[in-house]
Amino acid sequence: MSADPRRAVPRTDTLLADPALAAAAARLGRDLVKDAVRTVQQRVRDGSLAPEDAVGAALAALPVTAGSLRPVLNATGVLVHTNLGRAPLSEAAVEAVVAASGTTDVELDLRTGRRGPRGEAAIAALLAAVPAAQAAVVVNNCAAALALVATALGGELVIARGELVEIGDGFRIPELLEATGARLREVGTTNRVAPADYTRALGPGTGAVLKVHPSNFVVRGFTTAVPVAGLAAALAGTGVPLVADVGSGLLRPHPVLPDEPDLQTTLADGADLVLASGDKLLGGPQAGLVLGRADLVQRLRRHPLYRALRVDKTTLAALEATLRGPLPPVQRMLAADVDGLRARAGALAARLAAAGVDAVAVDSAARVGGGGAPEHPLPSAAVSLPEPFAGALRTGPRPVVGYVADGRTLLDLRSVPPPADDDLAAAVLEVARSWR
Ligand SMILES: *Cc1c(COP(=O)(O)O)cnc(C)c1O
Repeated sequence: MSADPRRAVPRTDTLLADPALAAAAARLGRDLVKDAVRTVQQRVRDGSLAPEDAVGAALAALPVTAGSLRPVLNATGVLVHTNLGRAPLSEAAVEAVVAASGTTDVELDLRTGRRGPRGEAAIAALLAAVPAAQAAVVVNNCAAALALVATALGGELVIARGELVEIGDGFRIPELLEATGARLREVGTTNRVAPADYTRALGPGTGAVLKVHPSNFVVRGFTTAVPVAGLAAALAGTGVPLVADVGSGLLRPHPVLPDEPDLQTTLADGADLVLASGDKLLGGPQAGLVLGRADLVQRLRRHPLYRALRVDKTTLAALEATLRGPLPPVQRMLAADVDGLRARAGALAARLAAAGVDAVAVDSAARVGGGGAPEHPLPSAAVSLPEPFAGALRTGPRPVVGYVADGRTLLDLRSVPPPADDDLAAAVLEVARSWR
């Protein structure tokens, strides 16, 4: 390095003309590359970088994509982690998204050259997966589905007081419903409601009876709720539609989560419409699914608000591939058996210990998360590391998010797809190396 490093600072034009940086600019856009160039010029100026290393350092400082969202390994043991983007898409869904992301036949029948119904194949996949449904419509998320139902069915919504729930981050379902102009007719008490409470509340202004799954809490003790089948029986002959928001999006009953409602059973039990998220236990893209009676679905689809809530082509592609393709990651994580998880934790811990890291395999408890199955821990296994690993792994080049318990960092393997074990080990070794 020369005596005055400032003289040796490579010029911006010179750096941008470097073939590797020019290629990066073509891929990521000039602004991101310029930012990286400015950063390395500053480092050369303050003497912390040799001028001849500027190109390499600029390349290393570039993001992987032009977007700033980064892939994160979810080792929290929370399968559907809202802060980490909820359900990871299956490879089949990712491929479908990539294929649909250019110009695509989302609303064109290629055989006739005429306009075709939007999202037809995704709807067909939903109906094939939930035979009790006559029709379906897909909107932006389950909150949008609730807003559309409340607006299009209108009038007064009859709902039990025990189901006026807050889902997370200040999202209160009653406030959303009232924001659409619908009136809420609350029935029962916090802990108890009976079929007669509902039927007494019906009147000429009733738009629908709404049942909301209290996804993230349970009420115990002196309680009764009215199950969908009982409510459907009580409403028979009244002409009032029964709408059930089940939240998590299980298609059918799941043996691991016996208390979680599913779309098929809820409709078979007599709900006229059932609502769910696409990116919780279904394991697909963010979406709001509405399935059920054809005439009601048609009313939703014809309502002007539908246009503001409908999903884009990539969501339709991901949803169809999630439904038709191999089991998505969330479903595989849910089904993973604990012996397999223990074997993975043992192998990882042994590998790390052999490299001098204080790592041991321990049993742990994973959770569904995303406001589902709140009191249902899933037996799991984790790699236990010294506490300082938590922060270092989170801020490393390949971010890993675990959690701290009893002074140790735990990396729970139920929420990590098995092929990512190598990446997990590499991230831990990288942190350990940086401390030596
Ligand atoms: C999660 C949840 C919602 C909100 O779903 P989004 O897809 O996040 O809008 C609504 N209702 C219930 C019962 C839920 O569990």
